[in-house]
Formats: sequence, structure tokens, C-alpha cells
Amino acid sequence: MIQYHEPLFRPPSEARSLIIQITLGCSWNKCSFCEMYTSKQFTARKEEEVFADIDAFLPYADQIRRVFLADGDPLVLSTRRLLRILDKLKTTFPNLQRVSTYASPSNLARKSNEELKELYEAGLTLLYVGIESGDSKVLECIQKGETFETTIEGLNKSKAIGMNSSVMIINGVGGTALSEQHAINSAKVLNETQPKYASTLVLTAHKGLEHYKNRFLGEFEELNQVQLFTELQLFMQHLELEETIFRSDHASNNLVLKGVLGKDKERFLEQIQLALDQPSLANLRSGFLKGF
Ligand code: SF4
Repeated sequence: MIQYHEPLFRPPSEARSLIIQITLGCSWNKCSFCEMYTSKQFTARKEEEVFADIDAFLPYADQIRRVFLADGDPLVLSTRRLLRILDKLKTTFPNLQRVSTYASPSNLARKSNEELKELYEAGLTLLYVGIESGDSKVLECIQKGETFETTIEGLNKSKAIGMNSSVMIINGVGGTALSEQHAINSAKVLNETQPKYASTLVLTAHKGLEHYKNRFLGEFEELNQVQLFTELQLFMQHLELEETIFRSDHASNNLVLKGVLGKDKERFLEQIQLALDQPSLANLRSGFLKGF
């Protein structure tokens, strides 16, 4: 078996996928809320090492259907290099159905339409994009290196050539002062891009609130539980999605929402209202009622 370079992360829905690390860390590594790769220096792994990792799974080649390319932003690699890796995966695993990776809107903007099409045709069909917020001010405060416009551009560029996106928004990431614009503009980004999958999670300050505040470019006041639900409610009210599979079931979410938007929008809004009005009756995770 292969030796992974820890820490290793993957989206929850890739739990049963083979993970191949083609880069280590994140080339950006600045987002205020993210501690995933702060212990790692960004490196593009040598091709022979990546190929050796893939070959290590030859005994299970027939069983491998999904591969997730790690770490933070493999799309920073040249298209030629990525195509060689995708080709190696395809020739090694005859039943491969899907290759996915994390991507940022800037990664996507730097690739031409032709390059993205080549990657898609070579098997890269799903991108996990941490939008975090659709609001440019919030994005500036959290040092995301994106704006409302670049996020929409990146997502629509990959969508136009057939790639699916799974996007994520962070409830509470902008603090109390920016909560309303965060909710509304995040909904607008989703409306403009109509992603295949969307999810929300709640801001978690892994190294403590003071550490997050120090990395947040501006004043940050944490949202309490009622404010978090109110922000989620406003976000949901502004969503106009046609067919997006929506999940808010990360461990950080106090209220679990699962369904398809738009058809389940009214049901979600009822669940959020119930959580605000009568938290004891809502489908809240145990232990969170103490926040009221
Ligand atoms: S781009 Fe992604 S992995 Fe990199 S620092 Fe930001 S959130 Fe973390």
C-alpha cells in the first residue's frame, strides 16, 4: 500500500474513492478559516511517485471506480501533466467511472476552454469548489482571493464544457456585520451557476476564535445559534435553484437539511423556521439546544 503524506483530506462523498495525492498542500494556503494545509509546503509531486502510487493499486484495479485527486488544488498543475495522470488512471483502472478533485475558481479561470474540455474528456468530471461566500467583501476579509464575479466565471466556465460542481458555503464566515450580504450574495452565486451539488457547513475555528479573528481582515463578531439559523434562512429564501442536490449534514451543521432545490425549498424553510421558533421540536443534533 502507499504511504500518504498526512494530513490528508477529501470530501465526505469521496469516502469510498481511491485517493491519489498528486500535489501536497495548497498553493494559496491563505484563507482565514482554513487550517487544512498550513503544516505543509505546497509541492507538486514527481510524476514517477504519483504513477508508483497508482500502480500500487494494480491488484485491485477492477474494483476501482472513483478516484479523488488530492491535496488542495491539483488544477494548479499544467494541463499536460494532468492529462498524463488521467491517462495513467484510465489505463490502470478499466472500470474507472469518475475522477474528481478540489478546485478554485481561479484554477479554472487560468485554464482555457480547450484545456478544460481535454481534462473533462480524459475523465475529470467532478470539481469540489469551496466558494465559502458569494459576497466580495466577505471573500476579501477571509482572504479567499476570489470575488463574486470570479467565482461565477470559474464555475460557469467548467459547467459549459460539461463538468459537474459540488459547491460549499460557510454559514457564519463573515461574522454579524456581513451576515446579510453574505447570505444574499451567496444565494446569487448559486442562482447564476446552478451547480449540481451544494452544501453548507458552519464556521469552525479549529485553532480558536482569536486565531480566526487575527486572520480575518476586518472586525469579526461570531454569530450565535439564532443568528446562524437566520443567516441560513435568508440564504435559502434567496435561492432560485432548478435541480441542485443540497446537503447541510456536515458535523458542524446543527440543523440537517437534505433534498433537492428548488423542489424542497419550502420544506427547508419550514424546518429552519421551526428551528428558530421551537428548537426543541426541530430536527437538531443533540447537544446544540444548549445554545438557545
Ligand atoms: S484554497 Fe482551499 S485549501 Fe487552500 S487555503 Fe483556501 S480553503 Fe484552504
